[in-house]
Amino acid sequence: LYMKEAAKRKLVHNKLIELQGNIRVIARVRPVVQAELNSGEHREVVDCTTDEDLVVHRDSTTRTRFEFDRVCDQDSTQAQAYELVSPLVTSVLDGYNVCIFAYGQTGSGKTYTMEGPEDNRGVNFQAIAEMFSVAEERVEDVEYKFKFNMLEIYNETIRDLLGDSQLKQLNIRQTAAGNVVENLTEIQVGSAQEVFDAMNSGATNRSVGSHNMNEHSSRSHLVVCVMTSGVDKHNGIKSKGKLHLIDLAGSERISKTDATGDRLKEAQAINSSLSALGNVINKLGEKKPGHVPYRDSKLTQLLQDSLGGNSKVMMFVNLSPVSYNMSESLCSLAFAARCRAVQLAGAKKNDDTDKREIKKLRAVIRAAGIAAKL
Ligand code: ADP
Ligand code: MG
Repeated sequence: LYMKEAAKRKLVHNKLIELQGNIRVIARVRPVVQAELNSGEHREVVDCTTDEDLVVHRDSTTRTRFEFDRVCDQDSTQAQAYELVSPLVTSVLDGYNVCIFAYGQTGSGKTYTMEGPEDNRGVNFQAIAEMFSVAEERVEDVEYKFKFNMLEIYNETIRDLLGDSQLKQLNIRQTAAGNVVENLTEIQVGSAQEVFDAMNSGATNRSVGSHNMNEHSSRSHLVVCVMTSGVDKHNGIKSKGKLHLIDLAGSERISKTDATGDRLKEAQAINSSLSALGNVINKLGEKKPGHVPYRDSKLTQLLQDSLGGNSKVMMFVNLSPVSYNMSESLCSLAFAARCRAVQLAGAKKNDDTDKREIKKLRAVIRAAGIAAKL
């Protein structure tokens, strides 16, 4: 029965990917924060109109509407945000590669969404806890092993956040089995708590050598990775999956006049790696054969085997609700819409039969207890 269910899950997931593409975008608007109240420009301009739409009120007459796979408004809880990605997380145990990103300007809520405060944990913690608990539920049927690594990408250099080589910069090597980071510390982990402990020490290492942790973290990408390998106890069939959890560097534009020297270099590195990510996602979404520009940044090189093919990508686009940040919000929304536009273009050629099929598949997934949207 287990095998049958697993095979059915995979079939349905693959069919959905085929029909809808593998990229989903969730917009999450955070509540107004004190700094915004102090700025005096705290008119709320982002209006979550439905579960799938939001409207930006540029001024009293101009409004722009954006559509996403899901919109999480200011009242959305950490549990509600996690619920949307939970099916992807558990599919890692079925052998999928999954990337969950948080994109947005500094202060928009990326770290809140991914890491979350200690008393209200975000995606990273909930995902890891759920992976271990699902593995436990399947213990009669599958033996799972877990490995963990954690790195950051700063100025296009990769730094290991575990082990003692974190100050050395690491290189990516192409192998038959995909791209690997040479000499990256990888640890075996046997429980969610072990991963949490490793994440904590990684976070401590991250702050070493940076005089301002907040600034540093907003200018580097944080990549947390859990790898699973499962062996079916009945038939010996093996599966491997990877979950990448990525808190991206702040997407804000820095004006050339404000930034000089190191600051300008940082800004350019962030800019080019975020646009490389957008270009890769856009190209993949076209689903046309052709060159995918993975090599344009360390981030896309690193994630090459987790972005295309049968992998699944979830992008949180984090947004401030107020006028003070509106132009950055519009930039983030444009990035997100571009990630998704290709989805729509891909879906456009779906005729009604495909739409009916998608509906049916979603019903199957719902019945199997997997969230329907994804
Ligand atoms: P970023 O990582 O994008 O720079 P943060 O996650 O650090 O932004 O969020 C900036 C501030 O907004 C923090 O004080 C954080 O606690 C608060 N915040 C962000 N998202 C939410 C949310 N959904 N609910 C409540 N507070 C939030
Ligand atoms: Mg942050």
